[in-house]
This record gives sequence, structure tokens and C-alpha cells, in this order.
Amino acid sequence: GNALFSGLGTTVFEVMSRLARQHGAVNLGQGFPDGRGPEDVLRVAATAVTDGWNQYPPMLGLPELRKAVADHDKRFYGLEVDPEAEVVVTSGATEALAAALFALIEPGDEVVLFEPLYDAYLPLVRRAGGVPKFVHLTPPDWSFDRAALARAFSPRTKAVLFNNPLNPAAKVFGAAELDLLAEFITGSNAYAICDEVYEHLVFDGRRHQPLIARPGMRDRCLKIGSAGKTFSLTGWKVGYVTAAPPLATLLGKAHQFLTFTTPPNLQAAVAYGLAKGDDYYDGVIAELQGKRDRFAAGLRRLGLGVLPCDGTYFVNLDIGSTGFNGDDQAFCRHLIEDVGVAAIPVSAFYAEDPLATVARFCFAKQDAVLDDALGRLAKRF
Ligand code: PMP
Ligand code: GLN
Repeated sequence: GNALFSGLGTTVFEVMSRLARQHGAVNLGQGFPDGRGPEDVLRVAATAVTDGWNQYPPMLGLPELRKAVADHDKRFYGLEVDPEAEVVVTSGATEALAAALFALIEPGDEVVLFEPLYDAYLPLVRRAGGVPKFVHLTPPDWSFDRAALARAFSPRTKAVLFNNPLNPAAKVFGAAELDLLAEFITGSNAYAICDEVYEHLVFDGRRHQPLIARPGMRDRCLKIGSAGKTFSLTGWKVGYVTAAPPLATLLGKAHQFLTFTTPPNLQAAVAYGLAKGDDYYDGVIAELQGKRDRFAAGLRRLGLGVLPCDGTYFVNLDIGSTGFNGDDQAFCRHLIEDVGVAAIPVSAFYAEDPLATVARFCFAKQDAVLDDALGRLAKRF
């Protein structure tokens, strides 16, 4: 057998969703919205299917979508992007991550990762032959400093995998931290794989700042976005990458033998969606921010400790505040089996020295579902 993959368990998101179904628990674990998504975007996709957009599209993406991504990057971040040379469409951000790692990493290259880290990162880095070097982040501010970066970077650093806004921490990194990271990236001649799937889920009037727009970073970053997050359509698996021509070309080489293409009908709908007006983008933020406040306030009313949430659709609970005696895995098991609410134990996002005192809840749900979960929690806490 293959030691690397046979040693892997099943992803925590699948495990928790299955347990939630078994126990009839309200599922605030796996991150996905329970709404339908924007109706006009759905209609464009449906029409594209029946109009016959169902054969292989161009390998690097539908021209309409590559242009829409370039326009989006200009509109939101002031970036000048050549859609033909600098945009690649992938089957979800997950494929973009795999393609970027397979394109950049030679066996033995070091890859800097920030913990907590999305659970796909480490298996992909290892499969690509990369040697992980961790920067350990902890609540409540989840920040890093010069000394932490100095420990992780070396002359062998080939890439940094950086998730901003950060799942599960709900942290949004600002200019000071981005510029510090940029300094180390240029200093070690590394590339940055920037997982920015939550770029449009940033609250309280703040704005996401992509690393690629910071000084010196334009030619060193692969910026990854996902329609799953931007349009609340997680099953669609349409991702897109913006990178300087040599990086985009290299990524395309990996992409051509991973999935080759992504369904053209969905690409057409995402192209339409990205061009939607500010009212759409603002509306998503307003709606999610309202849900964050509703759920976080509900937890606080029960006397529970809630960590700050600047972005993503996750709120983190300080398990210590519940009086529960046990780690986050035991807490989440108790929550599913005895309380009827599913959450994700945040230790699942660590490889070394796991933080075992925090549980993550997804609040991208109907208000009635959030209230149902709060009602169940109120019976126990
Ligand atoms: N990166 C992060 C940080 C995520 O939370 C997710 C989950 N949606 C992904 C990547 C995967 O995105 P996609 O579904 O587009 O593959
Ligand atoms: N990104 C989602 C989360 O963090 C889950 C994605 C998945 O289930 N693989 O919950």
C-alpha cells in the first residue's frame, strides 16, 4: 500500500457531517451555506446547460471567465491582470492548491505553512515531496511576528501556503503582517500560494487585502479564489488562479493532467456572477455579518466565550468557558451525541502541538437553524 495515503484518516468535515446525520444534530460543522445561492447565477448555469455548453471548454478556462477574473482583480484590488496569460480556471480551490504545489515543489523543498491549516494542505504538500515548516498561531489574535517567520524560513524555502482570511480562525491579516511576510518571501526567493477563498467574506467595513497586491509580490504569488465561497455554491467546485505569466503557465501544466477542465456551464455562470454589482457583494457581507452577530450573541447570552470573527463564516467557541472537562474532540463528540449540534474540533487543523480548546461553528445557515442550535445549547449550558 501507499504509506502516505493509507495512513490518512477521513477528512474531519466528512466525518462530522456523517455523525451529524446519524444523530439528527444541527450541522454547524462542515462549512457550507444552507441557502440556494443567487437565483440569477443559477439561471445562467441552467441556461448554459440546455443551450449546449457541455463539451470540453478550453483547458485554461472559458475566455469569458478568465476575463471576468481579471476584471474582478482590477475592480477590487487595482491589479492589472492579463486574462490570457495570468488567469487559470480550476476545479475548485482544492485543485488550484494541488496544481500549485505539484507545479512548484521538488522533493525536499521546504514549504512554510501556518497552523491552524486547512486539512487538505499537509497531505498535498507531502505528496508533492515538500518538507513542511510550521508557523504556529494561537487565539485570540492568531498573529505572527518576525521571530516566528525567521524560525520557519530558510534558504531551502520554495513556497509559502498562506490562507487569508484564515479558516478556521476567522482572522483577517492586515497590511503590517502581509508586508512582514512579503519581506521573508522576497528574502528567501520563495513563492506564495495564497488561498483567498474567503476574500469576499470580510466584516465590519474591513476590506480583504491580497498578498499579491503588496509591494514586491506581484510576480511571486498565485492568488486562489473560489466560486463556492463567493456565490455560496460550495458544490460547484469552480476555482480561479491569478499569477504572473511564468507561474500561471507552470500551474496550467499541472492542471492539464489533474482535471484538464472544469464544467463550462458553471464557468459561464461564475463569469456572470463575478461581474455582479456592489449590491451583491455588499449584500452577502451584510447577511453573513447579521448571522455572525445573531449566533455569537446567542452564545454570549449563555455565558459562553466567543473568539473574534473578522471574516469567513466561522465562529469559534472557547471550550473552557463551557465548564466541559475534556479536549475539543471529546467536546464535539458530546455536542453531537448529547446536545444535538455538530461543530468542528479545531485541533484537526494542527499538525504539531494542537490547540485543543476551541470548537468551530459555521454560521452560514438560515436564522431558524441557528436559533435551533442555540436552543439545544441552552438546554445544556
Ligand atoms: N481553502 C479553504 C481555506 C477552504 O476553507 C476551502 C473549503 N471550501 C477550500 C480551500 C476548498 O475550496 P473549493 O471547494 O473551491 O475546492
Ligand atoms: N471548507 C469547508 C470547511 O472548512 C469544508 C470543505 C470540505 O468539506 N472539504 O468546513
